Amino acid sequence: MLLQGRICAVTGAASERGLGRATARLFAEHGAKVAILDLDENAAKAAAAAIGPEHRGYACNVTDKAACLAAAERILADFGRIDVLVNNAGITQPIKTLDITPENYEAVTDVSLRGTLYMSQAAIPAMQKAGGGAIVCMSSVSAQRGGGVFGGPHYSAAKAGVLGLARAMARELGPSGIRVNSITPGLIQTDITQGKLSPEMKAEILKGIPLNRLGDAIDVARICLFLASDLSSYVTGATIDVNGGMLIH
Ligand code: NAD
Repeated sequence: MLLQGRICAVTGAASERGLGRATARLFAEHGAKVAILDLDENAAKAAAAAIGPEHRGYACNVTDKAACLAAAERILADFGRIDVLVNNAGITQPIKTLDITPENYEAVTDVSLRGTLYMSQAAIPAMQKAGGGAIVCMSSVSAQRGGGVFGGPHYSAAKAGVLGLARAMARELGPSGIRVNSITPGLIQTDITQGKLSPEMKAEILKGIPLNRLGDAIDVARICLFLASDLSSYVTGATIDVNGGMLIH
């Protein structure tokens, strides 16, 4: 029980096969009470109920600062604290540099980068008041190797921005007892690719993965658990790769 009694907010955790949902489930198994934040209130509530009766779901579009502040208020009203925040919400688009429209750029950078800032801003005051907390930010191997396997350059840019934001927050918030770390997953089997990843593409990608399999959501959830819990009590500003060896650096 690594998170007994902790209040943990996870953004983008409604998606059934997603990294956020797997993380929320694992946190609950470790004794946490989980707040699931996602675009649709009913979907967030259903996801929370699927994990157990003591968890809650809230509508929160992380690109909207007022919505982030309102969600944090609701979590505080229901649970009284926010000990852990996982900035997981993200979208991707498989398009090339010259095809990125202003709308594409805004959509992708808004969710991952602006959303990570806004939701952190919403949770940090409660963590400061409580004397500490842990923030985990979901980046991507795409930020490190110049394109992952699916997202376009604007996705790489957004996820590289997440790493910079997380490291700067780690430096600034360390004295408040708040640890901020990032995860850089490789290709994990979720619905983010919306069925656009063909078996041929997968086979090609596997050739470059030493562990010889695509990742499962639980592989990432376990690293979220490590970074959220006291197992990582002296770790801040770190980036942990969960990529099967796809990028070794
Ligand atoms: P997913 O599509 O299964 O889940 C993403 C969730 O985010 C969905 O529930 C969606 O409703 C929610 N969401 C989208 N926009 C939102 C917004 N504005 N506000 C709140 N919620 C919003 O995706 P996933 O594969 O579980 O990805 C989770 C995170 O991991 C993302 O940040 C993604 O970029 C990152 N990531 C995924 C992979 C992978 O291979 N799956 C690899 C590297 C990084």
